[in-house]
Amino acid sequence: MKPLELFPPTLEAARARIAAVRPADYARSRNALEGAVTRLSPYITHGFVSLPEVLAGVAARYRLDVQHKFVFELGWREYFHHVWQHRGERILHSLQGGPLPERVYAREMPADIRQARTGVTAIDQAVRALYTTGYLHNHARMWLASYVVHLRKVHWRAGADWMVAHLLDGDLASNHLSWQWVAGTGSHKPYLFNADNVARYAPLSWHSAGSMIDTSYEALDAIARSPRPISVRPLDEGVDEPQSSSQPPHGAAPEAADVGGRDVWLIHPWALGEPPADLAAGCLNVAWWPSEHHAAWPWGAARWCFVAARMSALAKLQWHGSHQQLAQALAAARSVHTPADEHVGALLPPDVNPRPALRLFAEVDRPCASFSAWWNLATRGLRQLSDLPGLQALVERGSAGALFDPAAIVVTPTLANDSADCSGRTSS
Ligand SMILES: Cc1cc2nc3c(=O)[nH]c(=O)nc-3n(C[C@H](O)[C@H](O)[C@H](O)COP(=O)(O)OP(=O)(O)OC[C@H]3O[C@@H](n4cnc5c(N)ncnc54)[C@H](O)[C@@H]3O)c2cc1C
Repeated sequence: MKPLELFPPTLEAARARIAAVRPADYARSRNALEGAVTRLSPYITHGFVSLPEVLAGVAARYRLDVQHKFVFELGWREYFHHVWQHRGERILHSLQGGPLPERVYAREMPADIRQARTGVTAIDQAVRALYTTGYLHNHARMWLASYVVHLRKVHWRAGADWMVAHLLDGDLASNHLSWQWVAGTGSHKPYLFNADNVARYAPLSWHSAGSMIDTSYEALDAIARSPRPISVRPLDEGVDEPQSSSQPPHGAAPEAADVGGRDVWLIHPWALGEPPADLAAGCLNVAWWPSEHHAAWPWGAARWCFVAARMSALAKLQWHGSHQQLAQALAAARSVHTPADEHVGALLPPDVNPRPALRLFAEVDRPCASFSAWWNLATRGLRQLSDLPGLQALVERGSAGALFDPAAIVVTPTLANDSADCSGRTSS
């Protein structure tokens, strides 16, 4: 299925995904490639829906505990953004030493991996799925990253930069910090997997018996700690890597005349939700593609189309330009408000008023080096799901949206009684 068939770029599609979440099935099967995962990530990354809106939509139909697996996984996204907020651009570099010195790892992604012809079926399938759908299941992302870093000795940063360019949900915090988690520069040990693990969680067409990953964890650990890459016998036939580009499909240079004397709601690629209800009457929606960001982080065609389609539904006026061009044009506006986001934070002119993003969990002021440390602080003192600050904020704002009744978060009809499973990130 093509990316935009799988992920229609509309709010209705995002809401339908939320309505389809089955938390008990999710908790039971999320590690399996064909398990009941939500595929909400492109909509969350691009701000069609916030984490509180996602959880409120699910909580209106199912009784969930704060420690439910689904809530826990939403927590991973917020944790990675917590790290980004505290560490800034340093997340793009190794947070700590990994199993081997940095110089051991190559800085280029090998052609056979990029072309899905490594000969390791699970890896080649993962690369093909990434290119055709713009999405990969979490387990497949972990396998791919582990193979790239620990078996092929490619630096995690090269792999992360390559993968993020092809994902519809590419998010610098979740992507680059997950690669570091796999590499062992953001966790205590390298993440490793073998053919048995693939056979347990993936369909038959991914199974990789007889390949170089068909070995024990002890052998894989020794490989991960040895500076020598494994020897490979790439296949002759593969696929072409889709091209990435820094140019949005449309967007004119910012013009002061477009916004002179107007109140402006500034939309950007990570803020594609409904504009807030309390904006000034006659407020003008203006969409902005920040050229500095796009020059540094090119996207595949599907992602441009995914974001552009939703932007067009929100704003007739679309600009593509640098932060200086934006500042000059917006100086003519009466007021400018925008949703805050780390992607554009440093690029916003000083006169623009960022509205803080709606967080699901309590803000943790102290930087946390591990997810569990953050989770303990972020959920401290919570007795029930409705105590989560993001859900409370939605109820207070009365902006819970069409999907659910805010009162239902507090007085929840019990359709399923899910048990907590907080045993770890995956059962690999
Ligand atoms: C190497 C690697 C790269 C990744 N790159 C990205 C990325 O660029 N963007 C991205 O959004 N996620 C990334 N992830 C995290 C995770 O794989 C995806 O969020 C998840 O697979 C998206 O699919 P889903 O919406 O069906 O997830 P579900 O399992 O249905 O989870 C629902 C939502 O919870 C959040 N979530 C779930 N698991 C995680 C997790 N482990 N880490 C962070 N958030 C999570 C996501 O917002 C997700 O949409 C990466 C993971 C790895 C191992």
